[in-house]
Amino acid sequence: MKIYLRMSLMREKQAIDEHFEDIEALIIDSHILETFQNATSGYVTRNKLKFIIDPITYRFTTEIIKECTKKRWYDRLVENYKMEDLMRYDGTLNLDKLHPHIRRNSFVKNIINYQDKRISQLSTETESWLTLLSEDNGRFEKKPLNVFPPYFIIESDESLDINIKSIMLAKEHTTNKIYANIPIENELLYDIKFINKLIEKYTSLELDGYFIWITDFNELKQRKSYLTYYEYLFKTFKDNVNDEIQINNMFGGYFSNLLTKKGVMDGFAHGLGFSESKNPYGQGGPAPTRYYVPLIHRMLTIDRAEDILENYEESKCNCPVCEHKEISELSTIELTKHVLNVKVQEKELSETLSLDELIEKMNSDSSGIVESARDSETRKQFNIYTEHLREWSNALS
Ligand SMILES: [Zn+2]
Repeated sequence: MKIYLRMSLMREKQAIDEHFEDIEALIIDSHILETFQNATSGYVTRNKLKFIIDPITYRFTTEIIKECTKKRWYDRLVENYKMEDLMRYDGTLNLDKLHPHIRRNSFVKNIINYQDKRISQLSTETESWLTLLSEDNGRFEKKPLNVFPPYFIIESDESLDINIKSIMLAKEHTTNKIYANIPIENELLYDIKFINKLIEKYTSLELDGYFIWITDFNELKQRKSYLTYYEYLFKTFKDNVNDEIQINNMFGGYFSNLLTKKGVMDGFAHGLGFSESKNPYGQGGPAPTRYYVPLIHRMLTIDRAEDILENYEESKCNCPVCEHKEISELSTIELTKHVLNVKVQEKELSETLSLDELIEKMNSDSSGIVESARDSETRKQFNIYTEHLREWSNALS
């Protein structure tokens, strides 16, 4: 089971530091890299981390980009992607300008070159003092584990074809592994005919791997039938490629952990607390203060989490952060560290137990919590907090 971590705040480094070995790679959005150029490139280089850069090209075609043109990363990305001539006055990317072929080809080349070279470029400035710190730093390969050809949200046959064309051009521009980044508008998930066509197109490209992203699909909020479509998508992808080709979920939570256990995907990515699903048309922003309750595999506000912990002793976390503290005493960074500690515990547990045992545990945790409620009002609340566990269990059984 491979866990990829999407880093979005510099303070998360303190949590990640303790778990380098447990993470397959860091996924860094290019706008994060450009916002914190030295901090990010220095961190990756100093610790010789495995990393992947997400070029977030889709973002330049969404409405929200118009509000981002004053941010420092905007100009830096437009410049580094060499796409000045492709931009409209309102700050959005004009995909019509990707004709003729020669323009599309250089667009693809620029996006891929950026991923292959950017960390090297940025860390060159700090190289001299880095080599003082560590003698063999010069040998660290500052290339990402793979590159993503430019991609856009798939809403129709047209956007699907734009993505496919980019991938077909990518091979001549890198010797690195090529993964497709596949963001699918969530309503299309239920259009089996479209999904089958999409899978056929992508798998016939013979890439090294895939990261699939169903937009705004929060595993916690889905009914069994939707979860079944979700599983179908990953399973069909997996069935249509060789074993060594990686099928990953770009934004997943504990349900993705269970699907990985089931063998329908190889791994999944998540952020530290709020990136288990993603709406591409939203601004994002800092996460509210919440606590990840291990037994229910979800975040709750501190007072709600306390409610469960007080009623149900077994739900207390035993990670090094929580061991000797009340959760209301935890600092923001401790809350973040706790999330990653628990995610790693979840991964280890999945590698130890069978899928049936994991489902059984989920069922008994869910009923244990509900039954621990001290009164009918609390019981009603606990039923709500654990509802997703029953949906997940039904979907997998
Ligand atoms: Zn903990």
